Amino acid sequence: MRHIAIVGSGPAGYYTAEAAVKKWGDDVRVDIFDRLPVPYGLIRTGVAPDHQSIKGVSRRYEKVALSDNVRFVGNVAVGSDVSVEELQDLYDAVVFATGAPNDRSLDLPGDHLANVFGSAAFVGWYNGHPQFAQLDPDLSGKHAVVIGMGNVALDVARILSKERCEFDGSDIVRHALEALCASNIHTITILGRRGPHQIMMTPKELGELMHLNKASPRVETVDLPPVDDDAILEPGLRKSVTLLRDFAAIPESIHGEKPITIDFDFFASPTALHGNDGKVREVEVERTRVEAGRAIGTGETYRIRADLVVSCIGYRSSPIEGVPFDERAGRFANDGGRILPGLYCVGWARRGPSGTIGTNRPDGYSVVDLVDEDLVGGSPKRGRSGFDELAAARQIDVVTFRDWQKIEEAEEAAAREGAPREKFTDVASMIAARGG
Ligand SMILES: Cc1cc2nc3c(=O)[nH]c(=O)nc-3n(C[C@H](O)[C@H](O)[C@H](O)COP(=O)(O)OP(=O)(O)OC[C@H]3O[C@@H](n4cnc5c(N)ncnc54)[C@H](O)[C@@H]3O)c2cc1C
Repeated sequence: MRHIAIVGSGPAGYYTAEAAVKKWGDDVRVDIFDRLPVPYGLIRTGVAPDHQSIKGVSRRYEKVALSDNVRFVGNVAVGSDVSVEELQDLYDAVVFATGAPNDRSLDLPGDHLANVFGSAAFVGWYNGHPQFAQLDPDLSGKHAVVIGMGNVALDVARILSKERCEFDGSDIVRHALEALCASNIHTITILGRRGPHQIMMTPKELGELMHLNKASPRVETVDLPPVDDDAILEPGLRKSVTLLRDFAAIPESIHGEKPITIDFDFFASPTALHGNDGKVREVEVERTRVEAGRAIGTGETYRIRADLVVSCIGYRSSPIEGVPFDERAGRFANDGGRILPGLYCVGWARRGPSGTIGTNRPDGYSVVDLVDEDLVGGSPKRGRSGFDELAAARQIDVVTFRDWQKIEEAEEAAAREGAPREKFTDVASMIAARGG
């Protein structure tokens, strides 16, 4: 028998559990810990609420969760409720699938001003993450600046520009829906240090900007390289750049019909945030040019109005006591997923914040191969029975998968018409919903 503890119930955690069960069948017991009482990580709290088909991947994880040898151990934070050392005493392998939940800091003068948020916080707010549900961004100003040229920036810009009926069928949480519907924002500037050929935006997400009821995207033709230069791009990026060219060709009359503009400001590196009364009002930007793929400052600066700033410039993992951490890269120090024999990492905790949900799958499968290499001989460890004793002695209120199903039923029962669920946004309500 092998006893595996997986820390984190997002995609990387569940793919690892799936791989473990495929490899060892009845010879493995897997416990998947999560600090929240609800599973699935960023599938629940990151992926946009109006992208329900993507969230459907959780049905695959549910199958894994319901297999006999896997269990969900929710509401247990590893590093505080239970230490890594304790898990190592009980399990043959501890696999960190803790993601990268912290915003990379902007590190600019003025980044402390009110109404400046990182995307983990802002996305967590509209997706009902208990840590950020109380964020209460002020949307009464006219101008928003979104920093970054990836899909998260597109999610944020799109969510900021939708009207109520465009959220039909989504699971956006009620507090965010009401705030967004009362929003006054009418320009959203997406700022990127580099040019159209360096964006990290995928065609599907970019294309959605063409179909918004109230908003239209605007690209300046001068920012686009000669069309022949697109030939060297890989096909996905070429499609994205073609969409930017389509945006540049949108006639003024169409912009005039829609009250919100989503402006792409390329070759624009933010250098400072300015405010008054403690609140952000402007972003100072330096023009850049791109040389060998790098943004070089030109010395020319200008300011953009900004009543709200959301930076979407990447994430860092949280270190956990006793686990080697690569401070520079912002993730666990590892070699192909192995931190040390017996200690592993997968997903964003291993690679940093890149790729799609599916990119986490091979991580899970390859780490199970590493565990197999490292595990020699039978296991003397106690696994889940040992953890249950520890949890009882420490009075840890563990949330099981069955409990989660009750929470899910309550969220579904509370859904607005046409919505899949109304999420609980605080831990106490989640725990209460599982009943006695
Ligand atoms: C805003 C946003 C939108 C995205 N949209 C898409 C999309 O549309 N399509 C797509 O393919 N990909 C999308 N992604 C990427 C996708 O969400 C990630 O690839 C994936 O979630 C990473 O999986 P993970 O398991 O490594 O981390 P996560 O999903 O972050 O899961 C980590 C889990 O670990 C738990 N945890 C953390 N610390 C502890 C601890 N100490 N103890 C116990 N539990 C802990 C957390 O609660 C969480 O449940 C998006 C990402 C973001 C940020």
